[in-house]
Amino acid sequence: MLSRRAVLSSAGLTLLGCAVKSRVEAGRAVSLVLPAQPTRDGAGVSLNRALGQRALSVLDPFLLLDEFHTDDPSDYLAGFPEHPHRGFETVTYMLQGAMEHRDVLGNQGRLGPGGAQWMTAGHGIIHSEMPRQERGLMWGFQLWVNLPRARKLIAPRYQDIAPSRIPEADVDGVRLRVVAGSTFGRTGPVSGIDVEPLFVDLAPAKGAHLRQPVPSGHTVFAYVTEGAVRLGSSQREVPRGHLAVLEKGTSVEVTGATEDGRLLLLAGRPWNEPIARMGPFVMNTDDEVRQAFDDYRAGRLLLGG
Ligand code: MN
Repeated sequence: MLSRRAVLSSAGLTLLGCAVKSRVEAGRAVSLVLPAQPTRDGAGVSLNRALGQRALSVLDPFLLLDEFHTDDPSDYLAGFPEHPHRGFETVTYMLQGAMEHRDVLGNQGRLGPGGAQWMTAGHGIIHSEMPRQERGLMWGFQLWVNLPRARKLIAPRYQDIAPSRIPEADVDGVRLRVVAGSTFGRTGPVSGIDVEPLFVDLAPAKGAHLRQPVPSGHTVFAYVTEGAVRLGSSQREVPRGHLAVLEKGTSVEVTGATEDGRLLLLAGRPWNEPIARMGPFVMNTDDEVRQAFDDYRAGRLLLGG
């Protein structure tokens, strides 16, 4: 009994220490934790929607976060056949399985485990995103990132990132991969993105602790992909499949709560602009969305609107 009480009180002191330290260093607090919601999209792909769901439609500049994680081929084989986008960026990050993207201009790429694609749709792309496997586990994410009004109709751009280009590090027992942004001396391969994103994949060992710096004016959220982690200044435990929104501050406290804890941490500059979205188009006004549909139907989407 004595040793158990000693452990408890030491844990209590650690928590207290964290709280005091994070106030001094402006550690962000968790303001909201939400489970991802099962849904279907594309031609019938089963996925879990963490952001862009009824309870949380947007976290400016982030518009959507989907996780697909299944070893049942009927959940993913239908894929996402040809469809358009305008006015924002789609980011795909794969952990297991293989996807292929192909657009109507002939751009094509394959995404495998650990790889990423940052696609800036700008004035318009028409593409498909299809599985390149018939069985086995398919596990990955798609994030939508908004473009500001002045940049919604820029030329489309693809950044296809092979797994080996994503720098990795081990910081105090936390394994990290930096997809975008700079942190702990590593710089992710994604470049020239308006929201100045930080996109890190963090895997803290149980009890391992990291104070992840984030830009103070950026919107920040985390999505737990495996196990459980403790997040924010009050070290709230967040299990896999849940999204946590973080309040203002210059860092996020991350601690592994299970041996297999893992999370994606995203930060981006908010635009504070009106958002008009319908299906694959995200603009500032309803008129601009109607224009996008008109341009798509008339074959003008790829021409710059
Ligand atoms: Mn798409």
